[in-house]
Amino acid sequence: MIKDKITEFQTVLPKHVTLVAVSKTKPVEDLIEAYDAGQRIFGENKVQEMTAKYEVLPKDIQWHLIGHLQTNKVKYIAPFVSLIHSIDSEKLLIEVNKEAKKNNRVIPCLLQFHIANEETKFGFNFDEVKELLESETFFTLQNISIVGIMGMASFTQDQTQIREEFQTLHDYFQVLKSHYFKFNPDFKEISMGMSGDYELAIECGSTMIRVGSTIFGNR
Ligand SMILES: *Cc1c(COP(=O)(O)O)cnc(C)c1O
Repeated sequence: MIKDKITEFQTVLPKHVTLVAVSKTKPVEDLIEAYDAGQRIFGENKVQEMTAKYEVLPKDIQWHLIGHLQTNKVKYIAPFVSLIHSIDSEKLLIEVNKEAKKNNRVIPCLLQFHIANEETKFGFNFDEVKELLESETFFTLQNISIVGIMGMASFTQDQTQIREEFQTLHDYFQVLKSHYFKFNPDFKEISMGMSGDYELAIECGSTMIRVGSTIFGNR
């Protein structure tokens, strides 16, 4: 039962870890069941699906965009999205800033790192993020707030490898925090861990886990 899973997470998760219930592909009824159990943060990976669900569900839900975001679709979510986990280029960040400004708001964002040993996943490497944070453009972006970083581990059973990747992300966070965000208390999130690896992620310092199939069943 979805409700029981949510209740279980509420009981076992440490206080400093936020649960993002990843509801992609799942019908609205499933989200309502999670909502009724107290869940308010939902993660979706497609703009159209997230927007459709936003329109019919209660307005106190916080919608997190967790999948690759195309610049031409930012405008659809800019009025209501509460966190974008998947900023993977300067171009995208500039577009989010532009659309946030049109909506007279500041949109919280995470910088997505490529930590997996796989070609297919989106994300920055460390040098690219340094370059971005030191660029003149970055300082002009008044309508975005970088509140942390996100990463996805490799799709593997090798726990040692997954742990190394999570530790890498945690190290990146520490270095960025001390170099660029020392006096910015908003920079505090490490979004890492999914159904198969969230326990390991929490051990490695995750503050935000993105869990889908464990809550809603297989897709
Ligand atoms: C689908 C998805 C998840 C959740 O995956 P589960 O294995 O079902 O928990 C987490 N993060 C991202 C970016 C996803 O696309």
